[in-house]
Amino acid sequence: MDPLLIAGGGIGGLAAALGLARNGSRVTVLERASALGEIGAGIQLGPNAFRAFDALGVGDAARRMAVYIDRLRLMDAVSGEEIVHIPLDAPFRERFGNPYAVVHRGDLHGVLLQACRDDPAIALRVKSEVVSYEQDANGVTATLSSGERLQGVALVGADGLWSKVRAQVVGDGAPRVSGHTTYRSVIPTERMPEALRWNAATLWAGPKCHVVHYPLSGWKVFNLVVTCHNDAPEPLAGKPVSAEEVHAGFRHTHERVQSIIRHGSDWKAWVLCDREPVLRWTDGRVALLGDAAHPMLQYFAQGACMALEDAVCLANAVAVGRDDIAGALLSYNEQRVLRTTRVQLQSREIGQHIYHPAGAHAALRDSLMRAKDANAWLDTLEWLYGGPQAESPANARVKIARA
Ligand SMILES: Cc1cc2nc3c(=O)[nH]c(=O)nc-3n(C[C@H](O)[C@H](O)[C@H](O)COP(=O)(O)OP(=O)(O)OC[C@H]3O[C@@H](n4cnc5c(N)ncnc54)[C@H](O)[C@@H]3O)c2cc1C
Repeated sequence: MDPLLIAGGGIGGLAAALGLARNGSRVTVLERASALGEIGAGIQLGPNAFRAFDALGVGDAARRMAVYIDRLRLMDAVSGEEIVHIPLDAPFRERFGNPYAVVHRGDLHGVLLQACRDDPAIALRVKSEVVSYEQDANGVTATLSSGERLQGVALVGADGLWSKVRAQVVGDGAPRVSGHTTYRSVIPTERMPEALRWNAATLWAGPKCHVVHYPLSGWKVFNLVVTCHNDAPEPLAGKPVSAEEVHAGFRHTHERVQSIIRHGSDWKAWVLCDREPVLRWTDGRVALLGDAAHPMLQYFAQGACMALEDAVCLANAVAVGRDDIAGALLSYNEQRVLRTTRVQLQSREIGQHIYHPAGAHAALRDSLMRAKDANAWLDTLEWLYGGPQAESPANARVKIARA
């Protein structure tokens, strides 16, 4: 039988390959780049990501490389004071069955890649850009930019924000440019101001800007991500920029915030994009996964977590629906779409109402957020960190008509 084809060897594509192979499929991953890897430094992982790692058989390896922070901390970037923090200690872990952690993207991708390399049912190909597909009752043919054509039993488009597979499945044009520019840097821990070396994912929220930092790689470095709502009109990914450009968006913030930014170097800029959620991301034997299916702003720190959950759900749906692969893919779509839609939409809302407000809007945020105790925060986060099975209308299955 032909293998199942996956376009894209990022976190989502590799996780899908692992899940599908574990459940009995033969898989070929087709990656556009000339090497498999990840750019960018840190990534936050909610308890739901660890549940997915366990299902994919890489739970122990993933837990070994993580830094376990002890709180999520929200600071006011203008006054320099704490607004609220959410403890991530025993009650959090007991409630959600798993920790909250931060990891280096390269380490995370490396764990998934090693597990794929160790699995004889998975073939990994680089320099293999999928540009289009055709399908009939017997299978899918993926065409690469080289002109090569590959046969598969199905095709999963895990090819990210600018997915070529999505262009054919959904056809909704270019992503939406948010107008928010994110600058990333990494600070050696000894250069981070000593008083701010917190074991926390810290977010400084200010008018039209915010700063996030957390320790990484066994506390060797701090990951620094600073974002400005500067109405940037064009998408941008990983462009080197000057420290001067970064500082310009933060002159109105507290000296503590500016002192962190001053320690950044080798800044790179991204203009953030997402898309409007869509109900259907399958077309017969073809399905989308991760950012290709539901790209979101990073404000919930859940894009990769959602891709991991997608991978587990897809693998389970294919395992039970092997005789009707199009039906299995549709079932996966039906199980995932409300949950990912909620994360997409709320990621935007968080940016507007928590990360970037000013004046009365910010004062209202502070008042509402301070009114909740730790238990109330756990209740608020149950639908998300409790995993796809958590009781919530947003985690329900929706019926999608078969085309
Ligand atoms: C600043 C920032 C911070 C973030 N922080 C977090 C966080 O803390 N926690 C979290 O969970 N998420 C976070 N995210 C989101 C997360 O990075 C993404 O959601 C996740 O990486 C998506 O994985 P993916 O595999 O779907 O797509 P991608 O990582 O984009 O991978 C797509 C892969 O497909 C390849 N490809 C592209 N086109 C083709 C093609 N036509 N054919 C073959 N291959 C192709 C690409 O080269 C790439 O390897 C953040 C995002 C940003 C921008």
